[in-house]
Amino acid sequence: MRPTSLYPVFSSVEIVKGVGPKASYFFKNLLGQNRLIDVLFHKPTGLKYRPRMTDASEIKDGMLPVFKIKVMEHVRPALKKHPYRILCQIQSFKGCQLEIVFFNYHKDYLVSSLPEGEIRWISGSVEWYNGKLQMTHPDYIVKDLDEWKIPLYEPVYPLTAGLTNKMVEFVVRNALKEIPYMDEWIDEILLKSNNWPSFKTALEMLHNPKTYDDLTALNKARQRLAYDELLAGQLALSIMRTRFKKQKGNALIGNGSLNEKLKQVLPFELTQAQKRVIGEIRTDLSSEYRMNRLLQGDVGSGKTIVALFAMLQAVESSAQAALMCPTDILSRQHFKKISSLLQDLGVNVVLLTGREKGKTRTELLQKIAQGTAQLIIGTHALFTQDVEFKNLKFVVIDEQHRFGVEQRLFLTQKGCHPDLLVMTATPIPRTLALTYYGDMDVSVIDEKPSMRQKTETCVIPSKAKEETIQKLNNLLQKNQQIYWVCPLVEESEKSDMANATDRYEELSSYFPNQVGLIHGKMNGAQKDAVMQDFLDKKISILVATTVIEVGVDVPSATVMIIEQAERFGLAQLHQLRGRIGRGAEKSTCLLMYSYPLSDVAKKRLEVMRQTDNGFVIAEEDLKLRGAGEVLGTRQSGLENLKLCDYELQSQLIATARKDAQQIIQTDPELKTPRGQAIKMLMYLFEKDVYIPMILAG
Ligand code: ADP
Ligand code: MG
Repeated sequence: MRPTSLYPVFSSVEIVKGVGPKASYFFKNLLGQNRLIDVLFHKPTGLKYRPRMTDASEIKDGMLPVFKIKVMEHVRPALKKHPYRILCQIQSFKGCQLEIVFFNYHKDYLVSSLPEGEIRWISGSVEWYNGKLQMTHPDYIVKDLDEWKIPLYEPVYPLTAGLTNKMVEFVVRNALKEIPYMDEWIDEILLKSNNWPSFKTALEMLHNPKTYDDLTALNKARQRLAYDELLAGQLALSIMRTRFKKQKGNALIGNGSLNEKLKQVLPFELTQAQKRVIGEIRTDLSSEYRMNRLLQGDVGSGKTIVALFAMLQAVESSAQAALMCPTDILSRQHFKKISSLLQDLGVNVVLLTGREKGKTRTELLQKIAQGTAQLIIGTHALFTQDVEFKNLKFVVIDEQHRFGVEQRLFLTQKGCHPDLLVMTATPIPRTLALTYYGDMDVSVIDEKPSMRQKTETCVIPSKAKEETIQKLNNLLQKNQQIYWVCPLVEESEKSDMANATDRYEELSSYFPNQVGLIHGKMNGAQKDAVMQDFLDKKISILVATTVIEVGVDVPSATVMIIEQAERFGLAQLHQLRGRIGRGAEKSTCLLMYSYPLSDVAKKRLEVMRQTDNGFVIAEEDLKLRGAGEVLGTRQSGLENLKLCDYELQSQLIATARKDAQQIIQTDPELKTPRGQAIKMLMYLFEKDVYIPMILAG
């Protein structure tokens, strides 16, 4: 349970007097949540400086000076569409006039806030115009004695429709008052050597920038807060790791018989990297501790087969193994390939997705519960309530780089403390990997099957489309197979993106009966049928949306055309392109773009053209986009770092990681005074679910 002293900061912004449900709703839009803590963790990105000027000659266009003025005359426009002007005498220094200009205005408001003949203090952006100063829509107008209400410095926040900077600042000021006293959790030596402020002071500094340096990632307050966030994350991972390690799992030793048979039926030699990784997993499975391992390997590096060897080891040990895939298509594809490989091995493989219904489903569930199903392949449906396993001792998760730590934990609660293998083709820069997979051991397949040739990638303008279509003719005559990828399914009014259905019709008119279409709005059976036709070479061109992005494997496809490639992210382009270049034939990828091309988009396409190394692409992606987007976490709402700026503060991760490991080793139950403070940190960063684990062990 969250400590009561933290209740206020975890309350809705509505506890601040003057903030109502409407503002609260806008905060939710802006931050995803509408609690004070979310507003406190919202970093200002700019700064406004409002100097009190005493000399007209020092004023330059665009400055935000504060003046004392005497209102001289309201000049009402003849037409409402003309601006309303108010002439003033600046009192702060001699002999200078100021004209205040309003475009959309309420006359009554202007008359009451700037009455003729009175003194006011005002501030706003100024410009010189014919020897006079002009200010359009002042930011502040206050009465003579209220000058103090105009701040010297003002933080500038990222906003969303409906919220003003003043509103955010107002809530921040109030929220800062609600931070309770907390003991220091950062190691004293680290704190002193970096000269970091306390947590509370750091938040105060964060929201009171006084120089532009204060806005950079090198600022002490920002460094400290980034460290806090990273430390909380690393503690969570350390706790997970320790818990996994401590838990007795199952020693799945196997007798090697099925592994041996699989080797014999395999149509290819395993790569050295595959052999090494199979060995690493074998050792883990054989040990009586629970395995918690990540298998990283670029697209096409052959992860599925590695998983299969491992799953067979479990089956050899009379246990059940499950393979979970993110999509129907992928689980069906795995099911087919694996069943055909295992045809003569006497292993019972079943497929369970959301699409198996009624009697089929009941029968499947029975087989799984009785243990006749030894190898179970499926989607999330595998982990729904009604699925009971007889003795599930090994779970493989394919292509699920978007799972957070908590989801992994949840998935492995089924069965009998199953060993866990997570496979991902999304190459993740090392620093990110430590943050997202820091609880796991890592195996890497760093080699592709040797007969593969590098896919050639070209970047072409969309006006070359007709020409490209003509060229397809040649390819089809050589029996080549082609993916044609479009960004969206249906044309919506808002979007001018190429439309897969349109393209399908266009291509069909050139190449009747040779084109298929697959997109996310089709149902499962329809998708399967099209994929099957493509695999069987009944069709040669497959027009697709990104539904083919993950895992799909048709080795004979050698050409991919991606329309409006500039709209895809790097990771996605890499995944898409990974669908070709899977066989012995040379493959070609055409990235088609339309204008206008932003600099970032240009850079992305260039990166794609130059390299097919997933790790290089991932590093570039991180530089171009930032961490949250690289992992797709912004969309999925998983772990999202708010305070840490990855590109600039990643050097803190290693320290946080070491620190966390040491804390969990020396004070596993967080009983020491520092341990108690650490618990507070975990609550602050909402790692609550890990806290009971500390004791559960
Ligand atoms: P990914 O790592 O992207 O999941 P897959 O497991 O789908 O890759 O493998 C890609 C293709 O390479 C598949 O057709 C698979 O049968 C084939 N393959 C896997 N290992 C080898 C190997 N050692 N030699 C040749 N082909 C292989
Ligand atoms: Mg795969």
